[in-house]
Amino acid sequence: MYRPALSVVIPCYNEAPCLELLHARVSAAARAAVGDDHEIVLINDGSRDDSWAVMQRLAAQDPRLVAINLSRNHGHQLALTAGLDLCSGAQILIIDADLQDPPELLTDMRATMAAQGADVVYAVRRKREGETIFKKATAAAFYRVLDRVTDTPIPLDTGDFRLMSRRALDALLSLPEQARFIRGMVAWVGFRQVPFPYDRAERHAGETNYPLGKMVRLAFDAVTGFSTAPLRFASHASVILAGASLLLLFYILWGFFEGSPVQGWTSTMLVVTVLSAVQMFVLGMIGEYLGRLYIESKRRPLYLVADIAGPVKGHSTLGFNAAEPSPEFEVE
Ligand code: UDP
Ligand code: MG
Repeated sequence: MYRPALSVVIPCYNEAPCLELLHARVSAAARAAVGDDHEIVLINDGSRDDSWAVMQRLAAQDPRLVAINLSRNHGHQLALTAGLDLCSGAQILIIDADLQDPPELLTDMRATMAAQGADVVYAVRRKREGETIFKKATAAAFYRVLDRVTDTPIPLDTGDFRLMSRRALDALLSLPEQARFIRGMVAWVGFRQVPFPYDRAERHAGETNYPLGKMVRLAFDAVTGFSTAPLRFASHASVILAGASLLLLFYILWGFFEGSPVQGWTSTMLVVTVLSAVQMFVLGMIGEYLGRLYIESKRRPLYLVADIAGPVKGHSTLGFNAAEPSPEFEVE
C-alpha cells in the first residue's frame, strides 16, 4: 500500500460553514510541511447541515482529499476512529474541524517530533479563547480528577489535537474497545510522547457540539476505561461506615447506662437517607461498568461507512465499510 508522508484526520459534525476555510488552511499547512505527498481525511459524522455536499465538492477539486460519510452520527471519538482507521499516512495529524486548533502549528510539531525522536506530539492548551468559564472550569476539574483515579498518566488539558507516528497509530488501532477515550488510549499506548504548548483559538463558526450531557458521557468513558477505582468505592465506604457505626454503638450504650436512652426520629432518618444515597451511588457505579461490559460483549463494528468520495487508500479494520466493494465483486 502506498503511504503518503502525512495524513490529516478531521471529524466533522455540522461544520459546513468551516469546511472551505478549514480545507484551505490545512492544505496550505500540509503543503508547507511535506509538499504534495499528503492526504486530508474528512469524516462526516452524520451532519444535519450540508457538510457532506460541501465535502464532495471539495473532494472533486482536490485529489488529496478523502471524504468519508458515516451512515449516521456516531459521536466524535468514533468518527475520529473511522478516519484514523482509513487513513494511510506515515505521520498522522488529528485536528478539529472548527479551526480552534491552528493547522499552521504542524511544521513546529513535526520539528518537535524529529528533534525529540518522539512518536506522539500532543498539543497542550495554554489558553482557551471564547469558551465559557463553566466549560473551562469543568474541563480543568475533570482532567485533575481523572489523573487521581487512573493508573495511566493522561496528560492534563490535552485534547485530541496531536501528531502521531504510524507505529503509534497502529498500536492505537489494535485497541478494539467501543467506549473510546482516544487521548487516554494514546497515552496508554506508550512510546515516546512529548507535550507541545499552544493557545487554543475560538471556534471559526457554529457552536460547540459538546454540550454538558456529551461531556459527562465522555468523562464516564474516560474513568471507566482507565480505572476500576469507583468499583472499590464500596469497600472504602464500608470501612468508614463500620467505624461510624461503632462510635454510634458506644454512644447508644453510654446513653443507656446513664439512664437516658437515645431517642429520635431525626437521627434515624438521617442515617437511613445517607446510607441509601451511598448504596444507590455504589449500585450506579456497578451499573456503569456492567452496561459497558454488555455493550463491549456485542462486538459491534465501531462505525459504519456509507459513502466515500476521493481516493481512500486505507482499509477498515474496526468498522463496517459499505463503500468498500466486497471481495467477491472485486475485479482481478
Ligand atoms: N464532532 C463529531 N461528532 C460529534 C460531535 C463533534 O465529529 O458528534 C467533531 C466536531 O465537528 C469537531 C470536533 O468533533 O471537529 C470537536 O467538537 P467541538 O468543536 O464541538 O467540541 P469542543 O471544541 O467545543 O470541545
Ligand atoms: Mg471545538
